[in-house]
Amino acid sequence: LTQLFRPLDMLGMVYRTVRQGLIDMAEMFALVDTPMEVSDAPGAPALVITRPTLRFDRVRFGYDPDREILKSLTFKVEAGERVAIVGPSGAGKSTIARLLFRFYDPTAGRILIGGKDIKTVTQQSLRAHIGIVPQDSVLFNDTIGYNIAYGREGATRSEIEAAARGAAIADFIESLPDGYETEVGERGLKLSGGEKQRVAIARTLLKNPPIILFDEATSALDTRTEQDIMRTIRAVAADRTTLTIAHRLSTVVDADRIIVLEGGQLVEQGSHAQLLAEDGLYAEMWARQASEAPAASEAAE
Ligand code: ADP
Ligand code: MG
Repeated sequence: LTQLFRPLDMLGMVYRTVRQGLIDMAEMFALVDTPMEVSDAPGAPALVITRPTLRFDRVRFGYDPDREILKSLTFKVEAGERVAIVGPSGAGKSTIARLLFRFYDPTAGRILIGGKDIKTVTQQSLRAHIGIVPQDSVLFNDTIGYNIAYGREGATRSEIEAAARGAAIADFIESLPDGYETEVGERGLKLSGGEKQRVAIARTLLKNPPIILFDEATSALDTRTEQDIMRTIRAVAADRTTLTIAHRLSTVVDADRIIVLEGGQLVEQGSHAQLLAEDGLYAEMWARQASEAPAASEAAE
């Protein structure tokens, strides 16, 4: 990814819309190795919704025709609901994120946002409704303020500061001698994994999408930092529809609902307590994580 952005530095002045596109590209590269061309339907309108609901309706998908990854997957996320998706590695969790962003189209079934099939609207308007905080966020070799401002064209300084406060990184930035003008990235201040994720959250807050997707956004962090970031994510999620793809189950215990995915199928769903009582795959995963990494199942220290 750093290689991807080196030529960008040399390009110098680029229109901000193009830069926003590159952010989306960067996040896309974090999600997929080889992005495929999906085009807008001729004369497709912009997505306009009244409530940010999300629905997968019997979605089937495979990267290769002879290997189906999602097998008639159906689930719904209500407006304002905080849903987590968990499951073994390779279950298809990130694939859900890629389809939601329409980097690929399902081979069967539909994905609806606010009741609208995402295939029928422009990709640009679709992506404006969804914020993503990926596992490893991309920072540009520029100031920290600029890195947050990528979240939205024409953001004012006070909006940038409000977003930084929302992401609980404002105090840190203000403690730096150059504040928001501090250069970050390869030639500047090296931010920790947790600080980078906070910049990504601030960027998303500035974009202010009704739906936010966290794709293992805290999995690269140590347990302590993860708990800190989770507190921020919970606050950010309070009045939004959020989908959290999680690796460590400790980050999803208080989700409104947990969807358990295995082999591209929904095998269980419910609250943490309900799933433990069901004594199925989730309960098994919980027991295994608790024994393998005792720290991960502890509450915030
Ligand atoms: P998870 O996020 O649950 O670990 P993914 O959705 O990333 O799983 O992957 C689901 C399956 O799809 C895996 O078997 C993976 O190898 C396969 N897969 C992921 N990306 C690609 C790709 N670009 N091309 C082919 N197969 C892929
Ligand atoms: Mg994944």
